[in-house]
Amino acid sequence: MEEIWRMDKKSISSVSDNVKEILHSVRQAAIECGRSPDEIAVMAVTKNVDTQRVNEAIDSGIHLLGENRVQELLEKYDDYKKEGVEIHFIGHLQTNKVKQIIDKVSMIHSVDSLRLAQEIDRQAKRIGIVMKVLVEVNIGEEESKFGVSAGELPQFLQEISKLPNLSVEGLMAIPPITSSAKESEYYFHKMSNLFIDIKQKNVDNISMGILSMGMSKDYLYAIKYGSHIVRIGTAMFGFRS
Ligand SMILES: *Cc1c(COP(=O)(O)O)cnc(C)c1O
Repeated sequence: MEEIWRMDKKSISSVSDNVKEILHSVRQAAIECGRSPDEIAVMAVTKNVDTQRVNEAIDSGIHLLGENRVQELLEKYDDYKKEGVEIHFIGHLQTNKVKQIIDKVSMIHSVDSLRLAQEIDRQAKRIGIVMKVLVEVNIGEEESKFGVSAGELPQFLQEISKLPNLSVEGLMAIPPITSSAKESEYYFHKMSNLFIDIKQKNVDNISMGILSMGMSKDYLYAIKYGSHIVRIGTAMFGFRS
């Protein structure tokens, strides 16, 4: 109940107040677990949020946007205040849409198949860039979710490491929807172990520097388990309609 009330209150407070509160709590959480606040980025997840409110978040100190849908990104792109701001793609990406976003985002968090990786590589080559990517891990082994399973990950990384116009920077996860933030901890712990494990394997052409996990209700826990990018929608913009 208490949590619901808190969220309700958030939806009527201003974006700028929310951003300030989130940035502050992230810094605090980092310091409390002995990490440097500078190694954690707060991403504003913009789905269903109008550009004016997204720009308000940018004006309040957000430097990173997370986009879920290709069409929505294309519609909003010109109206974002992009100076000093990076845009990452975080939603499920269809192979045939890669070319529409390849020049608009600086990282893709949701690489979950070899076919998709190959298409990103091809489109990146076409425009003369190297695209940074994260591999999405289906950490809860859920049938309904996209992502590579933890067991398949080493083999998958070997394969995509050969693509010259793609640079693997780390891992991303969306843990199962649990009833409490505390339950997410179990999955964050698993991701953290996986991340460290892969890092120690030192796969050629793979860098394990970024772990992207943690959303509105559990980002403070994610920081404890080493997250470098927390992806926040509801806590910043209120409930999506
Ligand atoms: C919507 C979304 C988020 C943000 O979720 P909130 O709970 O609203 O903070 C983060 N990551 C992804 C991939 C999303 O689709």
